[in-house]
Amino acid sequence: MQERYSEVLIETFGLKCGYEGREILKGITISLLPGELIGLLGPNGAGKSTLIKALSKILRPIAGTIYVEGEDIESLSFKDVAKKVGVVPQETLLDYNFTVYDVVMMGRNPYISRFKGETKLDKEIVLEAMKSTNTLEFADRSITELSGGEKQRVILARALAQQPKILLLDEPTSHLDISYQIEMLNLIKRLIKEKNIGALSALHDPNLASQFCDKIILMKDGKIYDFGTPKEVLTSKNLKDVFNIDVIVKQHPIYDSVYILPLSRTSKNYLGFNKKVHIICGGGTGARILYLLYNRFELSSGVVNLLDSDAEVCNELGINAIFEAPFSPISEENYRKNIAMIDNSDVVIISPVPFGEGNISNLKAFEYAVNIGKSTIMIDGPPIENRDFTNGKATYLWNKLAKRSTVLKSEEIEKLLDVIYERIGVIKARS
Ligand code: ADP
Ligand code: MG
Repeated sequence: MQERYSEVLIETFGLKCGYEGREILKGITISLLPGELIGLLGPNGAGKSTLIKALSKILRPIAGTIYVEGEDIESLSFKDVAKKVGVVPQETLLDYNFTVYDVVMMGRNPYISRFKGETKLDKEIVLEAMKSTNTLEFADRSITELSGGEKQRVILARALAQQPKILLLDEPTSHLDISYQIEMLNLIKRLIKEKNIGALSALHDPNLASQFCDKIILMKDGKIYDFGTPKEVLTSKNLKDVFNIDVIVKQHPIYDSVYILPLSRTSKNYLGFNKKVHIICGGGTGARILYLLYNRFELSSGVVNLLDSDAEVCNELGINAIFEAPFSPISEENYRKNIAMIDNSDVVIISPVPFGEGNISNLKAFEYAVNIGKSTIMIDGPPIENRDFTNGKATYLWNKLAKRSTVLKSEEIEKLLDVIYERIGVIKARS
């Protein structure tokens, strides 16, 4: 049993595939294990459907290999492949007046001998497939009369009737409303566990993929852009690179997964959107500022300790930040990176951070910004004396720099945008 479990169901090595000599898949290497649901994500045209066609032997590889349960797909007949691989295509053309039962029975074609016809066993398997997909009740109805969700379940039943080890699903939920999407994915998950099969499914919605898939293959331009658990793959940087969307990635409050919140893409309408704003923060004092300015300017941040809540916000938003090891003093190297970011920015902001010997160099970096004449803004929160753990050094510096910067109280943080617009010399857009 243990042995079987480690068996790879389907794998590809450097798979290249395309149409009429035009290469679409440009070297795909993947593997699928029993019990696993892998999601295929990527923009339209990335090659998801092409990959699914190749894995079901509808398309032949230009180069590379596909192994189905250890056997080269090229050495398997179409019937052999159909006994191992069940497909739920994106579009199923079924405008004929087939009954639901007939459609599911089509899944038995690879097993039915031309001479013997369908056997008792075939019928049993078809009934079982219909039971497990909740389609038995409309066995005698015409496929054309069914709703989108019902039809998808019938096509899934047809695939199950093939008794496949591998299920390939091409956007199985794309025409379904949200409740049917969840129902369909729950059903697929259940079948994978019950039958110990593996499934690869192209999906559109990253949040559904995150919630239901064990692993995600992120595709772009016929290549694998990233592969891993949803948490590993669904980062704001990956989603920006592949879909060109701005998102916030959050830990799911209930499940051990992440979910994404797409942000509007109106930033280009904001005045000064191409200005660079550098934020020196830490200890959660920068979060509000980062959210407020995100998408309005090109942001950078530094130096923040990993595990610090401000570092997490930078990660969530995909902000270019300098990270220091958790609870460690800022290194000389990171101080210099901070200086380089300051050199490169139009506005430098410091939040009301508590200062100790470990991060006083952040305040010194801000002093550098003041000295080279950058537009500098200080957000004042609790009095500096109360958050100075450097024997007065931070207090002295803070008060000195406050005379040469714009100081905004943290209660007035909503005015920060206006202050920045004023400092960079653009007039606030009327909203
Ligand atoms: P996805 O499923 O990720 O949206 P596809 O695999 O359908 O992407 O398409 C990948 C590329 O292959 C696209 O550029 C598409 O135009 C092209 N393509 C898809 N099907 C065919 C076909 N039958 N003939 C020629 N080109 C095709
Ligand atoms: Mg497709």
